[in-house]
Amino acid sequence: TNSDNVVYKVAMLGDNGVGKSALTNQFMTSEFVAYDNDQDETESDRQHVNVLLNSEESTLEIIDRLMDNKELTDECFDAFAVVYSITDRQSYQTAVDHLYNIRHELAIKEKPTILIANKIDLVRKRKVSKEEARSVAKQYDCKYTETSAALNHHVDELLVGILSQIRLTHTPD
Ligand code: GDP
Ligand code: MG
Repeated sequence: TNSDNVVYKVAMLGDNGVGKSALTNQFMTSEFVAYDNDQDETESDRQHVNVLLNSEESTLEIIDRLMDNKELTDECFDAFAVVYSITDRQSYQTAVDHLYNIRHELAIKEKPTILIANKIDLVRKRKVSKEEARSVAKQYDCKYTETSAALNHHVDELLVGILSQIRLTHTPD
C-alpha cells in the first residue's frame, strides 16, 4: 500500500526559467504514475509522485527550491536533477557549477546525478551543443538527457531513468 512506499528524495537544481516546474508538472501526467497520486500540492516546493515501475511502487519527493550547501547535505538526497535550457548559455554554466559543487565541494560521488538539457523544441535557438554537454556530464560521472517539457518529449523516460538509477544504488551487491 501507499504507506509502505519507499520515498526517494530528488533535488531539482538549475536557473530560473529553465523549466524545472514544467518538467515536474509533466512528471505528474506520466503513464508510470500510480492512480493514487497526491496532486494537490502544485504550489509547493516539494512534490510527491508515486511511480509504478517493474511492478514496484516508489514515491519520488521532488524538491525544487534554492538551497545552500548545508541544506543540500542535510536533506540527504537520493538523486540530483540538474536542469538547463539549451537556449540559455548562462543556465548551462550554472548547471556545470552545480555538478562541480555536488561532486567536488560536497564530495557526493555515488548519488545519481542527471544533467538535463531542456527546451530541445527550440532547436533553432540552441546555444549549447549536445557534444559539449555530453562530455561535461561524462567528466562528472553523470547521465545526460535532452527533454522538452513543452512537448512532453523524453519526460517519462527521465522520470523512469531517475527512479531506475536510484534503485540501482540501493540494491545490495
Ligand atoms: P523554472 O523557473 O525552472 O521552474 O521554469 P518554468 O518551468 O517555470 O518554465 C519557465 C518558462 O519556460 C515557462 O514559460 C515555460 O512554459 C517555458 N518552458 C519550460 N519548459 C519548456 C520547454 O521544454 N520548451 C519551451 N519552448 N518552453 C519551455
Ligand atoms: Mg519553477
